Amino acid sequence: MRLSSYFMPTLKENPSEAQIVSHRLMLRAGMVRQASAGIYSWLPLGFKVLKRIEQIVREEQDASGAQELLMPTIQAADLWKESGRYDDYGKEMLRIVDRHEREMLYGPTNEELITDIVRHSMKSWRDVPKNLYHIQWKFRDEVRPRFGVMRGREFLMKDAYSFDLTKEAARHSYNKMFAAYLRTFARMGLKAIPMRADTGPIGGDMSHEFIILADTGESQVYCHRDIVDFDVLGSAVDFDDVAALQGIVDRWTAPYAATDEKHDIEAFAAIPADKRIEARGIEVGHIFYFGAKYSKPLGAMIARPDGELVPVEMGSYGIGVSRLVGAIIEASHDERGIVWPEAVAPFKVGLIDLRPADAACAAAADRIDGALRAAGVEVLHDDRDDSPGAKFATMDLIGLPWQLVVGPRGLAQGVVELKQRRTGERQELSIESALARLTLR
Ligand code: ATP
Ligand code: MG
Repeated sequence: MRLSSYFMPTLKENPSEAQIVSHRLMLRAGMVRQASAGIYSWLPLGFKVLKRIEQIVREEQDASGAQELLMPTIQAADLWKESGRYDDYGKEMLRIVDRHEREMLYGPTNEELITDIVRHSMKSWRDVPKNLYHIQWKFRDEVRPRFGVMRGREFLMKDAYSFDLTKEAARHSYNKMFAAYLRTFARMGLKAIPMRADTGPIGGDMSHEFIILADTGESQVYCHRDIVDFDVLGSAVDFDDVAALQGIVDRWTAPYAATDEKHDIEAFAAIPADKRIEARGIEVGHIFYFGAKYSKPLGAMIARPDGELVPVEMGSYGIGVSRLVGAIIEASHDERGIVWPEAVAPFKVGLIDLRPADAACAAAADRIDGALRAAGVEVLHDDRDDSPGAKFATMDLIGLPWQLVVGPRGLAQGVVELKQRRTGERQELSIESALARLTLR
């Protein structure tokens, strides 16, 4: 992609409405534009990142055995009256009346709708286990939308719903999501810590929020330092191995880690002082077992092998896909701008032509651009007539993992400069070696 024709409306100045760094950088890099309070348009650069994150989430959900479907954003109020949540949900729910005076709503979540889908088709123990998920926009009329996409009113969520016959089976479904989440966030270059979270009236130990430690986070959290240093999960997870999966969950839930609502002051005080972490965190995911909370009122019953009808056991599992764009920036930036982890970067390489008016520079840059694209590497090629300083500043701001600089002086000696955004490390290489380096993997 040539920057001269790319729609990337960057800002030189810090926008005054942005209070936190991710919001500031997303606006400055031209990733999003506010449409109204807490509602954003995703511009090409931001949209690419959103899609990358979505794809990682999808791949890991699929790997765990979950199946993707798509439910609508608009739902009938009747279903929510059946579950009893229509009145409870309060002002966060955007209520809509259609032309026939039917009460509708813009879904803040989908427990009712998915339960409605399965109650008509899941009849017996043979139909479970199942885990169904979608990646769809939600609307919650937050009192105080803020921090850009981190607390929006309209936001993209992955929500999965598991269905099982027994509580033990539901635990295995829960554990699958637990492990899938560890892998999902690790692939994005994030350290997301599972922390005990509120289960409400359901009780039990099966609710965890996945939290990224960050000063700008809205949650108060407490954990043992050891868990921060845990290795991320390797590639080999057998999602059908009940005991192995329980082992993973046991290991990750052994050190103290809790959100404010579940904080146990005594247990925390028992941790050696130098191991206690008391911090702010960003909730990027939440997994939750709730048994028959919706299946019972909505009548989603399945037959046990002995013929008895029981409400299907359910859990729900959310990931804040659009929030993650901001959360990753909170976790990965420096004073010059964003530093994208390679897995979610909008482009892998920023190709900077220092002198597009120079025929030799333009020819070399075009050749590199073509070779990288032919190898499947996404390139943003700065072919604009602008000062080198401005070009470097833009590339640093948008945070692509690699910058490849083509200039007349280097070319005369047969070299280009390769810079790694994260470390700032620079290296002069022949064009061929630079290409070889960037097309590895
Ligand atoms: P929060 O405590 O931040 O309000 P929540 O607990 O109400 O979130 P869940 O119902 O657990 O949210 O939704 C699943 C995920 O969706 C959350 O873990 C979070 O990552 C994301 N999410 C929730 N609300 C918002 C929002 N207003 N804007 C962006 N993402 C959100
Ligand atoms: Mg939550």
